[in-house]
Amino acid sequence: MLKVEKLNVHYGVIHALKDVSMEVKEGEIVSLIGANGAGKTTLLQTISGLLKKTSGEVVFLGKSMNKVSAKNIVKEGITQVPEGRHIFSGMSVYENLLMGAYLRKDKDGIKADLQDIYQRFPILEKRSSQDASTLSGGEQQMLAMGRALMARPKILLLDEPTTYLDIAHQLEILELLRDLNREEQTTIILVIHDLNQAAKFADHVIGMKQGRALYCGKAQEVIREQQLLQLYDIHAKIVQDEEHGYPICMDYALHKHTDIPEH
Ligand code: ATP
Repeated sequence: MLKVEKLNVHYGVIHALKDVSMEVKEGEIVSLIGANGAGKTTLLQTISGLLKKTSGEVVFLGKSMNKVSAKNIVKEGITQVPEGRHIFSGMSVYENLLMGAYLRKDKDGIKADLQDIYQRFPILEKRSSQDASTLSGGEQQMLAMGRALMARPKILLLDEPTTYLDIAHQLEILELLRDLNREEQTTIILVIHDLNQAAKFADHVIGMKQGRALYCGKAQEVIREQQLLQLYDIHAKIVQDEEHGYPICMDYALHKHTDIPEH
């Protein structure tokens, strides 16, 4: 469904993405992991056309996105929920949600989709007439997601959708994404720092380091001691979930570099 081929992105002299290639199949959930500054946000923003690439190609449903504007990329079915709480203040929750449908090709069914979103996020219906800025941080994150869903994306890119949320709300968001994936076959790529959640909720995990997609595969192939040492410079103690087989990190320790004294 989505193919990224040899993507290179620079911010001035900083080479933020280095020959990144990856493939995401329709209906998959993919977790993007990696240390701060590894290039995860840059990758999502380049796929959604918000950042200009130096070279490489993004192919969506067989069509190159290289000459397609960010606006038209949304129309093709790629929608990003950016990092942080991106809401329009001064507008109600309801108006924020309608903004999500602004770029949509087919305007039919907007009412029904709004009802669907209210069903998925009852708090948004309860607060529909309130100014979006009066919502709590977690509620604003839900609103940003609801607004993205109003665009009816075929693929949803989420940058750290669980940051700032308590554990119950984190699970709520992740389960909601899983329901959406199962019910609507929406393909999902999410940047996530919690390795256990990355493993549990995704079909595939991509581990990034210093601008490269170093590891791609099932959670049990990427979330392993050796790979985590490479990605984060940590030692992780990993066990397997008995029922489902996904890896669970039990404990972590920083890798201590011992300097060998010169003779
Ligand atoms: P984090 O987990 O901290 O959000 P990330 O993996 O999403 O990090 P990016 O934000 O994609 O990483 O950053 C990749 C590299 O590009 C980093 O070295 C970062 O400092 C650099 N970078 C990101 N945005 C800019 C910018 N606007 N100008 C210059 N350099 C940038």
